[in-house]
Amino acid sequence: MTALIQVDGLTKAFGDNEVLRGIEFSVDSGSVTAVIGPSGSGKTTLLRSLNALDVPDTGVIRVADVTIDFAGDYAKSDIARYRSQSGFVFQNHNLFPHKTVLENVIEGPVVVQRRPVADATADAQRLLDSVGLGDRADDYPAQLSGGQQQRVGIVRAVAMNPKVLLLDEPTSALDPELVGEVLRVIRDLAAQNWTMVVVTHEISFARQVSDQVLFVDGGVIVERGAPEQVIGAPEHERTAAFLRRLT
Ligand code: ADP
Repeated sequence: MTALIQVDGLTKAFGDNEVLRGIEFSVDSGSVTAVIGPSGSGKTTLLRSLNALDVPDTGVIRVADVTIDFAGDYAKSDIARYRSQSGFVFQNHNLFPHKTVLENVIEGPVVVQRRPVADATADAQRLLDSVGLGDRADDYPAQLSGGQQQRVGIVRAVAMNPKVLLLDEPTSALDPELVGEVLRVIRDLAAQNWTMVVVTHEISFARQVSDQVLFVDGGVIVERGAPEQVIGAPEHERTAAFLRRLT
Protein backbone atom coordinates (compact mmCIF):
# COMPACT_ATOMS: atom_id res chain seq x y z
CA MET A 1 0.00 0.00 0.00
CA THR A 2 1.25 3.47 -0.78
CA ALA A 3 0.75 6.24 1.72
CA LEU A 4 -1.44 9.01 0.34
CA ILE A 5 -0.65 11.24 3.31
CA GLN A 6 2.62 11.38 5.20
CA VAL A 7 3.05 13.67 8.21
CA ASP A 8 6.34 14.16 10.05
CA GLY A 9 7.23 16.53 12.87
CA LEU A 10 4.02 18.56 12.75
CA THR A 11 3.86 21.29 15.39
CA LYS A 12 1.47 24.18 15.78
CA ALA A 13 1.08 26.79 18.51
CA PHE A 14 -1.50 29.52 18.93
CA GLY A 15 0.46 32.12 20.90
CA ASP A 16 1.82 30.31 23.96
CA ASN A 17 -0.55 27.41 23.51
CA GLU A 18 1.39 24.53 21.95
CA VAL A 19 -1.51 22.68 20.43
CA LEU A 20 0.33 20.11 18.28
CA ARG A 21 3.63 18.90 19.70
CA GLY A 22 5.20 16.59 17.15
CA ILE A 23 2.67 14.63 15.14
CA GLU A 24 3.68 11.80 12.88
CA PHE A 25 1.47 9.40 10.94
CA SER A 26 0.61 8.19 7.48
CA VAL A 27 -2.62 7.37 5.70
CA ASP A 28 -2.87 4.61 3.12
CA SER A 29 -4.59 5.26 -0.15
CA GLY A 30 -8.24 4.16 -0.01
CA SER A 31 -8.30 3.91 3.78
CA VAL A 32 -10.32 5.62 6.51
CA THR A 33 -8.52 7.16 9.48
CA ALA A 34 -10.55 8.14 12.55
CA VAL A 35 -9.07 10.78 14.85
CA ILE A 36 -10.42 10.49 18.39
CA GLY A 37 -9.53 12.08 21.71
CA PRO A 38 -10.68 14.51 24.36
CA SER A 39 -11.99 17.96 23.57
CA GLY A 40 -9.18 20.50 23.16
CA SER A 41 -6.53 17.86 22.44
CA GLY A 42 -5.71 19.24 18.98
CA LYS A 43 -7.74 16.96 16.68
CA THR A 44 -9.33 19.72 14.63
CA THR A 45 -6.05 21.61 14.34
CA LEU A 46 -4.39 18.42 13.12
CA LEU A 47 -7.08 17.96 10.47
CA ARG A 48 -6.99 21.63 9.43
CA SER A 49 -3.20 21.38 9.03
CA LEU A 50 -3.75 18.82 6.27
CA ASN A 51 -5.54 21.51 4.26
CA ALA A 52 -3.50 24.48 5.58
CA LEU A 53 -6.68 25.97 7.03
CA ASP A 54 -4.36 26.16 10.02
CA VAL A 55 -0.80 26.61 8.79
CA PRO A 56 1.65 24.42 10.74
CA ASP A 57 4.72 25.99 12.39
CA THR A 58 6.91 23.02 11.49
CA GLY A 59 6.43 19.70 9.80
CA VAL A 60 6.94 18.02 6.50
CA ILE A 61 3.57 17.00 5.16
CA ARG A 62 2.80 15.27 1.91
CA VAL A 63 -0.81 15.13 0.76
CA ALA A 64 -1.02 13.09 -2.45
CA ASP A 65 1.27 14.82 -4.95
CA VAL A 66 2.26 17.87 -2.92
CA THR A 67 4.86 18.04 -0.15
CA ILE A 68 5.47 21.12 1.98
CA ASP A 69 8.17 21.69 4.58
CA PHE A 70 6.35 24.17 6.78
CA ALA A 71 9.55 25.17 8.59
CA GLY A 72 11.13 26.11 5.27
CA ASP A 73 10.35 28.47 2.43
CA TYR A 74 7.34 27.78 0.31
CA ALA A 75 5.34 29.81 -2.13
CA LYS A 76 1.68 30.79 -1.87
CA SER A 77 1.14 28.76 -5.02
CA ASP A 78 2.49 25.67 -3.19
CA ILE A 79 -0.17 26.18 -0.52
CA ALA A 80 -2.85 26.48 -3.19
CA ARG A 81 -1.72 23.19 -4.76
CA TYR A 82 -1.51 21.54 -1.32
CA ARG A 83 -5.07 22.67 -0.54
CA SER A 84 -6.40 21.38 -3.82
CA GLN A 85 -5.43 17.81 -2.91
CA SER A 86 -8.07 17.55 -0.19
CA GLY A 87 -11.70 18.44 0.38
CA PHE A 88 -12.79 19.69 3.78
CA VAL A 89 -16.17 18.98 5.37
CA PHE A 90 -16.93 21.35 8.23
CA GLN A 91 -18.81 20.58 11.40
CA ASN A 92 -21.42 23.16 10.40
CA HIS A 93 -21.29 22.46 6.64
CA ASN A 94 -20.58 26.16 5.81
CA LEU A 95 -23.05 26.22 2.90
CA PHE A 96 -23.77 29.58 1.27
CA PRO A 97 -27.26 30.46 2.57
CA HIS A 98 -28.19 32.59 -0.44
CA LYS A 99 -27.32 29.90 -2.99
CA THR A 100 -29.40 26.83 -3.82
CA VAL A 101 -28.18 23.34 -3.05
CA LEU A 102 -27.09 22.88 -6.66
CA GLU A 103 -25.37 26.28 -6.79
CA ASN A 104 -23.49 25.41 -3.60
CA VAL A 105 -22.26 22.15 -5.09
CA ILE A 106 -21.16 23.53 -8.49
CA GLU A 107 -19.53 26.70 -7.10
CA GLY A 108 -16.09 25.08 -6.59
CA PRO A 109 -16.00 23.04 -9.80
CA VAL A 110 -17.10 26.04 -11.92
CA VAL A 111 -15.32 28.94 -10.21
CA VAL A 112 -12.15 27.24 -8.98
CA GLN A 113 -11.73 24.39 -11.45
CA ARG A 114 -13.26 26.27 -14.39
CA ARG A 115 -15.37 23.31 -15.45
CA PRO A 116 -18.26 23.91 -17.87
CA VAL A 117 -21.49 24.60 -15.98
CA ALA A 118 -23.38 21.84 -17.82
CA ASP A 119 -20.79 19.19 -16.86
CA ALA A 120 -20.54 20.36 -13.26
CA THR A 121 -24.34 20.42 -13.00
CA ALA A 122 -24.68 16.89 -14.36
CA ASP A 123 -22.07 15.60 -11.88
CA ALA A 124 -23.64 17.51 -9.00
CA GLN A 125 -27.08 16.11 -9.80
CA ARG A 126 -25.68 12.58 -9.90
CA LEU A 127 -23.93 13.09 -6.54
CA LEU A 128 -27.05 14.60 -4.96
CA ASP A 129 -29.05 11.60 -6.24
CA SER A 130 -26.51 9.27 -4.62
CA VAL A 131 -27.11 10.81 -1.18
CA GLY A 132 -30.91 10.87 -1.59
CA LEU A 133 -31.17 14.60 -2.27
CA GLY A 134 -31.73 14.60 -6.01
CA ASP A 135 -35.09 16.34 -5.62
CA ARG A 136 -33.72 19.12 -3.37
CA ALA A 137 -31.28 20.70 -5.86
CA ASP A 138 -33.29 23.93 -6.17
CA ASP A 139 -33.94 24.36 -2.44
CA TYR A 140 -31.99 26.73 -0.24
CA PRO A 141 -29.99 25.33 2.70
CA ALA A 142 -32.45 26.76 5.25
CA GLN A 143 -35.19 24.60 3.72
CA LEU A 144 -33.27 21.43 4.60
CA SER A 145 -32.78 19.58 7.88
CA GLY A 146 -29.35 19.65 9.52
CA GLY A 147 -28.63 16.13 8.30
CA GLN A 148 -29.60 17.04 4.74
CA GLN A 149 -27.44 20.16 4.89
CA GLN A 150 -24.50 18.11 6.04
CA ARG A 151 -25.04 15.61 3.22
CA VAL A 152 -24.87 18.56 0.82
CA GLY A 153 -21.68 19.68 2.60
CA ILE A 154 -20.15 16.29 1.88
CA VAL A 155 -21.33 16.31 -1.74
CA ARG A 156 -19.82 19.77 -2.18
CA ALA A 157 -16.42 18.45 -1.08
CA VAL A 158 -16.73 15.30 -3.23
CA ALA A 159 -17.71 17.35 -6.31
CA MET A 160 -14.19 18.80 -6.43
CA ASN A 161 -12.90 15.25 -6.82
CA PRO A 162 -10.06 15.67 -4.33
CA LYS A 163 -7.59 12.89 -3.49
CA VAL A 164 -8.70 12.83 0.13
CA LEU A 165 -11.68 13.96 2.18
CA LEU A 166 -11.11 15.60 5.57
CA LEU A 167 -14.18 15.57 7.81
CA ASP A 168 -14.25 17.60 11.01
CA GLU A 169 -16.77 16.14 13.45
CA PRO A 170 -19.34 15.87 10.64
CA THR A 171 -22.17 14.76 12.92
CA SER A 172 -21.50 16.59 16.17
CA ALA A 173 -23.76 19.57 15.37
CA LEU A 174 -26.70 17.29 14.53
CA ASP A 175 -29.68 16.14 16.54
CA PRO A 176 -29.19 12.46 17.41
CA GLU A 177 -31.89 11.26 15.01
CA LEU A 178 -30.06 12.89 12.08
CA VAL A 179 -26.64 11.39 12.77
CA GLY A 180 -27.33 8.05 11.08
CA GLU A 181 -28.12 9.46 7.64
CA VAL A 182 -24.82 11.35 7.55
CA LEU A 183 -22.78 8.39 8.81
CA ARG A 184 -24.44 6.28 6.11
CA VAL A 185 -23.11 8.65 3.41
CA ILE A 186 -19.62 8.44 4.89
CA ARG A 187 -19.86 4.64 4.98
CA ASP A 188 -20.87 4.65 1.30
CA LEU A 189 -17.85 6.80 0.44
CA ALA A 190 -15.61 4.39 2.36
CA ALA A 191 -17.10 1.52 0.37
CA GLN A 192 -16.19 3.44 -2.81
CA ASN A 193 -12.57 3.54 -1.54
CA TRP A 194 -12.42 7.22 -0.82
CA THR A 195 -9.42 8.10 1.34
CA MET A 196 -10.79 9.89 4.40
CA VAL A 197 -9.57 11.36 7.66
CA VAL A 198 -12.46 11.89 10.07
CA VAL A 199 -12.38 13.62 13.44
CA THR A 200 -15.22 11.99 15.32
CA HIS A 201 -16.80 11.37 18.68
CA GLU A 202 -18.76 8.47 17.23
CA ILE A 203 -16.63 5.68 18.63
CA SER A 204 -18.76 2.79 17.36
CA PHE A 205 -18.70 4.34 13.89
CA ALA A 206 -14.91 4.71 14.12
CA ARG A 207 -14.63 1.11 15.14
CA GLN A 208 -16.80 -0.18 12.32
CA VAL A 209 -15.65 2.00 9.43
CA SER A 210 -12.05 3.02 10.01
CA ASP A 211 -8.90 1.15 9.07
CA GLN A 212 -6.75 3.19 11.42
CA VAL A 213 -7.48 5.09 14.63
CA LEU A 214 -5.36 7.92 15.99
CA PHE A 215 -5.93 8.65 19.67
CA VAL A 216 -4.78 12.24 20.26
CA ASP A 217 -4.27 13.71 23.71
CA GLY A 218 -2.34 16.82 24.70
CA GLY A 219 -1.19 17.51 21.14
CA VAL A 220 0.46 14.14 20.54
CA ILE A 221 -0.70 10.84 19.09
CA VAL A 222 -0.76 8.64 22.17
CA GLU A 223 -1.83 5.53 20.33
CA ARG A 224 -2.25 4.62 16.69
CA GLY A 225 -3.37 1.39 15.09
CA ALA A 226 -6.26 -0.71 13.86
CA PRO A 227 -9.60 0.03 15.56
CA GLU A 228 -9.74 -3.42 17.13
CA GLN A 229 -6.47 -2.56 18.83
CA VAL A 230 -6.82 1.13 19.79
CA ILE A 231 -10.54 0.97 20.64
CA GLY A 232 -10.89 -2.74 21.36
CA ALA A 233 -7.73 -3.34 23.39
CA PRO A 234 -5.94 -0.05 24.08
CA GLU A 235 -2.36 -0.33 25.30
CA HIS A 236 -2.23 3.05 26.98
CA GLU A 237 -4.05 3.97 30.15
CA ARG A 238 -4.91 7.41 28.71
CA THR A 239 -6.71 5.78 25.79
CA ALA A 240 -8.53 3.34 28.06
CA ALA A 241 -9.57 6.15 30.42
CA PHE A 242 -10.90 8.24 27.50
CA LEU A 243 -12.92 5.32 26.16
CA ARG A 244 -14.29 4.49 29.62
CA ARG A 245 -15.55 8.04 30.01
CA LEU A 246 -17.61 7.66 26.82
CA THR A 247 -19.47 4.56 27.91
P1 ADP B 1 -10.07 19.43 19.50
O1 ADP B 1 -10.47 19.36 18.04
O2 ADP B 1 -9.35 18.20 19.95
O3 ADP B 1 -11.21 19.77 20.40
P2 ADP B 1 -8.72 21.86 18.72
O4 ADP B 1 -7.69 21.49 17.70
O5 ADP B 1 -10.00 22.45 18.25
O6 ADP B 1 -9.00 20.59 19.66
O7 ADP B 1 -8.10 22.89 19.76
C1 ADP B 1 -6.91 22.63 20.48
C2 ADP B 1 -6.51 23.88 21.22
O8 ADP B 1 -6.16 24.88 20.28
C3 ADP B 1 -7.56 24.45 22.12
O9 ADP B 1 -6.92 24.89 23.29
C4 ADP B 1 -8.08 25.61 21.33
O10 ADP B 1 -8.54 26.62 22.17
C5 ADP B 1 -6.85 26.07 20.57
N1 ADP B 1 -7.17 26.71 19.28
C6 ADP B 1 -7.71 26.11 18.20
N2 ADP B 1 -7.84 26.98 17.18
C7 ADP B 1 -7.38 28.18 17.63
C8 ADP B 1 -7.24 29.47 17.05
N3 ADP B 1 -7.61 29.71 15.77
N4 ADP B 1 -6.72 30.45 17.80
C9 ADP B 1 -6.33 30.23 19.09
N5 ADP B 1 -6.43 29.02 19.68
C10 ADP B 1 -6.94 28.01 18.98
